[in-house]
Amino acid sequence: MQQILLAINAGSSSVKFQVFAAADASLERRVSGLLDGIGSQPRLIIRDGTGAVLVDKSFALATVASVEAAQEIVGDWLEAAQELIGGKLTAIGHRVVHGGADFTRPVLIDDAVLARIVALTPLAPLHQPKNLAPIRAWARRRPDLPQVACFDTAFHRGHGELADRFAIPDALYQEGIRRYGFHGLSYEYIAQRVPEVFPGLARGRIIVAHLGNGCSLCALKDGRSIDSTMGFTALDGIPMGTRPGALDPGIVLYLMREKGMDAAAIEHFLYHQCGLKGLSGISNDVRLLEASAEPSARLALDHFVYRITKEIGALAAVLGGIDALVFTAGIGENGTEMRRHIVTGSAWLGLTIDETANRTRQLDLSATATGPRVLMIPTDEELMIARHTRDVLAAR
Ligand code: AMP
Repeated sequence: MQQILLAINAGSSSVKFQVFAAADASLERRVSGLLDGIGSQPRLIIRDGTGAVLVDKSFALATVASVEAAQEIVGDWLEAAQELIGGKLTAIGHRVVHGGADFTRPVLIDDAVLARIVALTPLAPLHQPKNLAPIRAWARRRPDLPQVACFDTAFHRGHGELADRFAIPDALYQEGIRRYGFHGLSYEYIAQRVPEVFPGLARGRIIVAHLGNGCSLCALKDGRSIDSTMGFTALDGIPMGTRPGALDPGIVLYLMREKGMDAAAIEHFLYHQCGLKGLSGISNDVRLLEASAEPSARLALDHFVYRITKEIGALAAVLGGIDALVFTAGIGENGTEMRRHIVTGSAWLGLTIDETANRTRQLDLSATATGPRVLMIPTDEELMIARHTRDVLAAR
């Protein structure tokens, strides 16, 4: 029987979704959609498999006030579009940010699994509830449909102990305070995609730069993650749109003691008021910062590039060299200037960038025919979710 799979990737104020028809080993994309501006200016855009726009509709704030409400809008549309998507949905796969130490692969969701995902909420307080909302909404709407949880941490669970540890007492490590790493679905997709486009790199030492709203780097060896810049939570590593990346923990103590901030205030500060937005005082969006003449905008972008090049050096040390640097996600795929500055700052590793290839968004951006490659590969987290969902169902 042909499977019709819905892949859901729910963020803080948006839900990305795609429907795939699974036949044999192939997955055919039938529709892709984005409902963003949830809680502010909700707007739904749906495209067919060729990219043609099928729906572009704005909603009143009250109609789509939550990620849960967004599922009803999406669900109603999919029900009416059965002919287009190839029939009734047969399963749903979800991106779940935190899988803790135990979830090393995607799993079919049942009550026990759901309780374990809920229990991990303190480790990803802002993201996990947004991932749980669509799981619950669909369980109510279509209790007959199997749902699969695909964890952003799972791809990193093979990290060696040295990469997995903080320099803190063992009891805390055993309790689960370890470097989990995130953006795993994106990195897993890139790890599968690289050998398809560059077979010679299949066993290579690759650093992937996932630069979007959230940003991190991942060191891949033989297609497996061996280290990543993100740690216990999605706050660690390189700066992001509104998160600072790695921070001296003494700053948190200072905020508590001298500024009287409690945990909730610090959490809000670290997730929403730092990074490019905090440093520039203007925006979290690279496009706006690049267009701005304010010195603080330049400072924010320069600091972003500085921290990324520094961490590329660190991961190159972990890998013992580098065969390729791959850019992906919103800034990685579209930020021509950011790519140029990051590669220029990493020239000591033998990385080069061809300006024409960079501007015209080629796959291989390197300026030389030999030596380490600089690649731009669009990520596809929803396809990865669909692959996992298909495979979990097949293994049942
Ligand atoms: P994502 O989370 O992968 O959707 O990435 C979103 C981010 O990509 C936005 O916040 C922008 O900063 C960035 N972005 C999108 N388009 C561009 C562009 N043309 N140039 C630079 N950055 C971009």
